[in-house]
Amino acid sequence: MRKALVIGNWKMNGLQARNAELVAAVASGVADETFARVDVGVCPPFIYLQAVAQQLDDTAIAVGAQNMSQHASGAYTGEVSAEMLVDAGCRLVILGHSERRSLFAETDADVAGKVNAALAAQLTPVVCVGETLQQREAGDAESVVSEQLLQALAGLGAEALEQVVVAYEPVWAIGTGLTASPEQAQEIHRALRKVLNGLSAEAADKMRILYGGSVNAANADALFAQPDIDGGLIGGASLKAEDFIAICRAAA
Ligand code: PEP
Repeated sequence: MRKALVIGNWKMNGLQARNAELVAAVASGVADETFARVDVGVCPPFIYLQAVAQQLDDTAIAVGAQNMSQHASGAYTGEVSAEMLVDAGCRLVILGHSERRSLFAETDADVAGKVNAALAAQLTPVVCVGETLQQREAGDAESVVSEQLLQALAGLGAEALEQVVVAYEPVWAIGTGLTASPEQAQEIHRALRKVLNGLSAEAADKMRILYGGSVNAANADALFAQPDIDGGLIGGASLKAEDFIAICRAAA
């Protein structure tokens, strides 16, 4: 039985005072019994990671980054390493988000390098895959996400795979208000589980596959009820404590 996981991706939003308010509301709103059945994480912008991690120190809520470098250290101006994230109190890192891929030209090879670097630093990589609307309309959704996943996880053994979280985020559903139907999402999650199964049957059964793309308090229940959907990666709705808490409850 996989424990559900809900992660908030704040993207480039929030300033110190607002973050502190949001974090306090989420921490007090997610009741203890919810924590027993769902793991919760929040991913603020780099500059606020340490402050948020300190504020959440005595709670079960994990802090994660939205990206990181695949390099350990050195002349990489503007970059942040896995070890630095751990040092700042992070336990998770989102990798290969579609905005990183489309706006910052991240390739599957970059994502694979980052997955390896995260695992080496004991950070949980949350590997994002997703097809564009054009790819879906061409009937290629399953093959696109399967290939992204295989490339991101290339060379990992069963033990390493078990540390990885996968997030299926159809590009056409991110920030658009359009959500994959529970059936559409389940179809892709099942296909991704099959890909994982081909890598390691033991790991595939334990690995969590999150759905992301305009999840909100109203649609979370039906999505999370699908057998291969193990929680969510939440963008816009994670910025409103009330909505994020309702989504965490729906996953519990
Ligand atoms: C995301 O960016 O990871 C995301 C799922 O965003 P939203 O929930 O706003 O669609």
